[in-house]
Amino acid sequence: MISSRTADFRLTLIHPCVGRRSGMTKYIRTWKMEPLPPAMLAAFTPDDVELRFYDDRLETIPFDEPTDLVAISVETYTAKRAYQIASEYRVRGVPVVMGGFHATLCAAEVAEYCDSLVIGEAEELFPALIEDYRQGRPKAVYQSDTRPSHLGFSPDRSIFVGKRYLPISLVEFSRGCKFVCDFCAIQSAYDASHRCRPVENVIEEVKRIKKRGRMIFFIDDNLTSNMDAAKQLMRQLIPLKIRWVSQCDISVAYDQEALELMKRSGCQGVLVGFESLDRSTLKAMNKGFNMMQGGPVEAIANFQHHGLRLYGTFIFGNDHDTEATFRETLHFAVDHGLFIAAFNHITPFPGTPLYQRLEQEGRLLYSRWWLDDAYRYGEVPFRPKNIEPAELARLCIETRKAFYSWKGISQRILHPVNHRDPWMLVNYLAINLMHQFDVSNRDGLPLGNEDWEGHLIKTDKQLYVA
Ligand code: SF4
Repeated sequence: MISSRTADFRLTLIHPCVGRRSGMTKYIRTWKMEPLPPAMLAAFTPDDVELRFYDDRLETIPFDEPTDLVAISVETYTAKRAYQIASEYRVRGVPVVMGGFHATLCAAEVAEYCDSLVIGEAEELFPALIEDYRQGRPKAVYQSDTRPSHLGFSPDRSIFVGKRYLPISLVEFSRGCKFVCDFCAIQSAYDASHRCRPVENVIEEVKRIKKRGRMIFFIDDNLTSNMDAAKQLMRQLIPLKIRWVSQCDISVAYDQEALELMKRSGCQGVLVGFESLDRSTLKAMNKGFNMMQGGPVEAIANFQHHGLRLYGTFIFGNDHDTEATFRETLHFAVDHGLFIAAFNHITPFPGTPLYQRLEQEGRLLYSRWWLDDAYRYGEVPFRPKNIEPAELARLCIETRKAFYSWKGISQRILHPVNHRDPWMLVNYLAINLMHQFDVSNRDGLPLGNEDWEGHLIKTDKQLYVA
C-alpha cells in the first residue's frame, strides 16, 4: 500500500509475522487482526513523507521497492522474522529502525539488527527520528525516558485499506497495568504504570470507525486498571450503541456499578486472565488478587449475570501444576460456560521476573528461545517442576482440542449467556470453529520464515542506554 502523500522522503512500515513453515501460503486466521503499532507510527509521520505499509502476514514484502527508511515494531515472537526482514533491507543499503516491546525489554539484542533503536513508547519520538534521517544525522538510540505526556492520538487506519483483516475494529483507550504479575511483559515494559487517553478523544475515534454489525475491541492491556477512568469511558459509550469487548482484571466482576455500565454501554464480553485455579500458584505469580472475594467462580457468575461472555485464559507449567491440573481446568472452563478460552504453557518472556527466576534456577532450555532455529511455536522453553516439557506442550494442545471439540462447543453453548442473543450465537459458532481449526494449525510453527535464504546482518555496536 502506498499513500497518496508524495515527497522526497519515503518511509516503509512493516508488521512482521511470527514465522512460516516451508511452502506455507495461508496465515493463521485467528492472528489476522489489524495491527495498531504501524497505524500509530503512520499517525505520527509528517504529512510530507511518502508512506507505505506491508503486513508480512498478508502479503509479500517488495524488498526492492525504493525506500529511504524502514520501521519495524518488534515483539518477542516476531523478533526473528523482524531481523530477517531488516537484513533484507540492510543488504540493499536501506536503514532500519526498530522499536516495540521487545526493543524495550531486550535493547542490546535488537540494537544488533537495526540502524536505530527506539526504547520505550515510540510515537512522540518518531517525527524527530524521521527528521534526523532526512538530514542524514540519525542516532543509534532514541529513548523515551518517561511515559508519553500526551496520549491524545488516533491511529491512521488508512494504511489498512485493501488488506483483509478479521472484521473487528481495534481501539486503544489505555496502556499498561498497575499490577505486577511476574510473567507479564507488559508490566515489565511499562514498569507497572498505566496511562489513559482522554475519554473524549476515544469517543470521537469510536464514532469515526464504528460500523453496523462490527465489534469494537478495546485492546488495552487491562481496561479496568484505572476503574474510575474506565467507568467514565463506559458512560460516554452508552449513547453510541456499539458492541464492544476488551481485557480486564477480575476486580471488575465485584464492582456492581462497573458491571452495569459495561452492559449498558454494549460490552459483549471480556478476556480475563484466570491463569490458574490454585491459590498458591496465583500467589507465587503475584496474581493472588484473582482469589479476591468469591474468586473466579463468583466472578464468572457476576459477569454472566450481566450478559457478559468470558474469554478465560489459563497458563500451565507452574511449579504446583500436575497432569490433574489440566483436567480440573478444562472441566472448570466447560462447566462455567466460557465463550472461548486459551490453554497455554507459561512463557518466560525476556525482561520479566519469571524469566530472571528461571534463568537463575538454570531451568531455561535455550539461551534465547525466540532466536533459536530449533525452537518451534508451542514448545516449552523451560524445565517445569512436575511435568516433562514435551508432555506439558502436549497437554496444552489436548486441553485446547477438548475445549474446542464438537462436544466442548455444544456443552458450552447450553449456557444462556452464549446462546440468548442470536447475533452473539452466530459469533459463538464462528469464533469457536475458527479456534477449533487453529488448535492444530499454529503449534510447531517456526519462528522466522523457514524458506528464508538470506543471512542475518548484525551490527557490531556498543549500545549505550541512558
Ligand atoms: S493483570 Fe494482566 S496486564 Fe496486568 S500485570 Fe497482570 S497479566 Fe499483566
